[in-house]
Amino acid sequence: MDTRILLHICCGPCSISVIRRLQDQGYAVTGFFHNPNIHPLSEYLKRRDGCLEVAERLGIKAIVKDEEYDPKGFLRAVAWREDNRCFHCYAMRLERTVSIAKRGRFPFFTSTLLYSKMQKHDEIARLGKDMGGGKTAFHYEDFRTGWKEGIETSKEWGIYRQQYCGCIHSEFERYKGQLGKTEKDG
Ligand code: SF4
Repeated sequence: MDTRILLHICCGPCSISVIRRLQDQGYAVTGFFHNPNIHPLSEYLKRRDGCLEVAERLGIKAIVKDEEYDPKGFLRAVAWREDNRCFHCYAMRLERTVSIAKRGRFPFFTSTLLYSKMQKHDEIARLGKDMGGGKTAFHYEDFRTGWKEGIETSKEWGIYRQQYCGCIHSEFERYKGQLGKTEKDG
C-alpha cells in the first residue's frame, strides 16, 4: 500500500507532534511549507527555517517553494473580506497542497493547521474534505491533542515560535494594545 502523505506545514512548532503521529501510523510523510499569508518576509523566513529544522530532526523531506511566497497575491485574495479572511487563507494554502499532492501522486494530504487550537478547526476540516477525493484523499485527524507536546518539544529544540498567526491583520491585532503607549508608560 502506498502510504505517502503530503503534509502542509504552517510552521515548525505546529508540525512536530503531527509528523510524529503520522509516522507512528505508518505514513511516509513529506512536508510542504506554503504560506504566502505570512507578513513580513523576515517572519516568513524564520518560520520556514523552523519548519526545515523540524523536518531534519524528524527525518522527513520538506518541499519549500520560496518563489511562491506572494504577499501581494494574499492581500488581494482577502481584500474587502478581511472579516472572513481566514477561510480564504486556508483555502489558498490547501488548494496548492492538493495540486502538489496530485502532481506528486500522493494518495493522501493533510495540514498542520488542524493542530492549532487558535484556528477554525471545523472550517479547515470542511475545506479539506471538500478538496479531497479522486487521486488524493484528505486525511482528517484532530491533531490538537498533540498541542502540549508540540509546545514543549519546540522549546526544548529551540525552534522559532511565532507571536501572531501570520498575516498583517493578525500582527496588528496582536500588538494594537501598544498603540498610544510609549516605553516610558511601561
Ligand atoms: S489570521 Fe491567520 S489564518 Fe487568518 S488570514 Fe491571517 S494568517 Fe491566515
